[in-house]
Amino acid sequence: MAEPTSSPLPGEKTVGALVLFSGGQDSATCLAWALNRYDHVETVGFAYGQRHAVELEARQRLRSLYGEKPGWADRLGPDHLLSIPTFSEIGETAMTADLPITAGETGLPTTFVPGRNLAFLTFAGALAAKQGLTVLVGGMCETDNAGYPDCRAATIDAMQTTLRLGLAAPIAVETPLMHLTKGQTWALAKQVGGEALVDLIVEHSHTCYRGDRSQRHDWGYGCGECPACEERARGWAAYCQDAGQEVSA
Ligand code: ZN
Repeated sequence: MAEPTSSPLPGEKTVGALVLFSGGQDSATCLAWALNRYDHVETVGFAYGQRHAVELEARQRLRSLYGEKPGWADRLGPDHLLSIPTFSEIGETAMTADLPITAGETGLPTTFVPGRNLAFLTFAGALAAKQGLTVLVGGMCETDNAGYPDCRAATIDAMQTTLRLGLAAPIAVETPLMHLTKGQTWALAKQVGGEALVDLIVEHSHTCYRGDRSQRHDWGYGCGECPACEERARGWAAYCQDAGQEVSA
């Protein structure tokens, strides 16, 4: 696995980062990655009209558990929760309304919320500028099965350029998961915080599109049937296989 590279600009001193933190597996891994790497780390989450509050609850659990870890407690700064009700006003997606999760007319799944990551990065950039932070960290990943176009490296690179120009600030957008498979994302968590961090992410992060926390699998809680659960389960199986561990059925 290639070591994700930071992009410090010449003359930069202490670097503070703002992690886009949803409470899912990916952003939980990114927050741990950032806490190992930056002196000061703040988090931002978005209430964008999503159907389930469980993600937002997972954020708080994970933050308080990370805050107990030696070395991370002093680095973990405040959390910010920004409300963007606009997406549920714009249109119906399976993330913001009670619609089936299927392939949509455009070929993208109905869970795609057009413009969501573009808006998230813009608001995160504005918040970072106010807080004096120069690094944004996000769990965008172009190898995801969903194939969201706003998670691709080309989109994120263009957003970084836009933010630098539009904010007149040396913003760097870090996406440590961009080219990883879901199995490799679990391996990165182990690399960053050992088995203890992997266990913590399994138990407390939330991925399931249906917001189901009634069923516990070896990869964590979820309905086990939605595309997000299936992808998390596949990633876990690949990770366990690579680690030479047995995967329970
Ligand atoms: Zn599910």
